[in-house]
Amino acid sequence: MKNYRVSAENKISLRELDPADRSEFLGDKDQAEAEVKHITRELDDLQERLYAEGKRAMLFVIQAPDTGGKDGTIRHVFGNLNPQGCRVASFKAPSATELAHDYLWRIHAAMPRRGEIGIFNRSHYEDVLVVRVHNLVPREVWEKRYAQINAFEKMLTEEGTTIVKFFLHISKEEQKERLLARVADPTKHWKFNPADLKERALWDEYQRAYEDVLNKTSTAYAPWYVIPANRKWYRNVIVARIAHQTLKDLDPQYPETNIDFSNIAIE
Ligand code: AMP
Ligand code: MG
Repeated sequence: MKNYRVSAENKISLRELDPADRSEFLGDKDQAEAEVKHITRELDDLQERLYAEGKRAMLFVIQAPDTGGKDGTIRHVFGNLNPQGCRVASFKAPSATELAHDYLWRIHAAMPRRGEIGIFNRSHYEDVLVVRVHNLVPREVWEKRYAQINAFEKMLTEEGTTIVKFFLHISKEEQKERLLARVADPTKHWKFNPADLKERALWDEYQRAYEDVLNKTSTAYAPWYVIPANRKWYRNVIVARIAHQTLKDLDPQYPETNIDFSNIAIE
């Protein structure tokens, strides 16, 4: 999975990364789905331990172009977690109240508590993506945000939250297919936003903005992974593996108690 991790030594150009790559999983779709199913059970167990331990938190950030698969990834990879230990936050265009604060205010408030797994569907990165592409604030303002975000994430990790970030990488052609599928399927109409077509016209600007995000904010403490996401099953199995490995490395432990269980009688 190291191949997909962005680092200071491994700067990326999205044009050179194939969104249809499948080099890290040699099986077929059925095998990938079986592995995801298996991993979701393990994630559930690890989450319970993290919750019982109650000392540390885990945050997964998911960013992608429109139709990139954020919702599907959350459902398939994290859908089996106990809702009690899990907090999903979706970030839309900021409200008037949110805009009256700094851009990290609403993000900080949505962070998982100790013991929880947090999942961000969009995030503070929108503040250097849509905000940059649409000039919602001047360049002098958004330019400073990469360093601010790194400092913020460093503080969060030092305070006990592990952060892993996924960029779901799809091709422009794949986005077209998915938008057409939304048009053709009445059960997907609710997801179709005519504004997405305007965003699509800005594809190249967005890709540049994503590249800057990936290259400037993938740190040792809060790495980005670029996930080839044209195939949904491939995307799911790779995200699942990375999430699984991260939680296994955390190795959360059930807490010790000083109750003597050998001596308990229950009438
Ligand atoms: P969706 O995820 O399809 O429900 O769309 C949410 C919309 O909110 C997207 O168009 C985002 O670009 C937009 N959005 C999220 N965060 C921000 C932000 N900080 N500033 C402006 N727009 C945002
Ligand atoms: Mg949308």
